[in-house]
Amino acid sequence: MRVLVVEDEANIADALATGLRAEGFDVDVVNNGDDGLWRARETAYAAIILDILLPGMNGYRICRTLRAEGVWTPILMLTAKDGELDEAEALDTGADDFLSKPFSFVVLVARLRALLRRGAAPRPAVLQVGSLTLDPASRACHRGDTAIELTAREYALLELLMRRSDAIVSKSVLIDEVWGPDFPGDPNIVEVYIGYVRKKIDAPFGLQTILTVRGAGYRLIADQSGS
Ligand code: CA
Repeated sequence: MRVLVVEDEANIADALATGLRAEGFDVDVVNNGDDGLWRARETAYAAIILDILLPGMNGYRICRTLRAEGVWTPILMLTAKDGELDEAEALDTGADDFLSKPFSFVVLVARLRALLRRGAAPRPAVLQVGSLTLDPASRACHRGDTAIELTAREYALLELLMRRSDAIVSKSVLIDEVWGPDFPGDPNIVEVYIGYVRKKIDAPFGLQTILTVRGAGYRLIADQSGS
């Protein structure tokens, strides 16, 4: 099985390559982000071990780009322990697993083998509620044929409402899922963002599909034309 190691620290890259070859893998090593992206696109690797801070394109962008292009090779992301960038964010980019540096090689191999057993993640299904569609793979949103640009936060909010369409989703669930359980700010932020999303998915189309259920939360319903 061929794996790609994208790592700019020569001693780590060498140790990984030597160790993985001893474990029976074929290993390609690149030391910058641009080569990493190119290799990952060109070759059907069984898995990719991807550092975050790299010369050229960083690991997050590589991961997002590959997923947006429909490349679902399992990715194990290497994160720095000093909180350089956090784990939730690593997973949010479409990485399958992450490991903080410094890591033990034995643990890395175990995690890599677990990823290989799972195989490439299937491309997630496009969500549809009435004429509204959302593609979790590319993060593209459309109302009918009209493309809608969403920020990352708006996307997360809308995805949750679409996954639970017709059900009431409480403000506290939205805060937990979209802002995180440790969100210290004003819970009214949810209303503000619901407003932003309505302005994009409803108002231009003369629709009202995100309903406010007083004291309970929000409910996304299908518009007539699409249902
Ligand atoms: Ca690095």
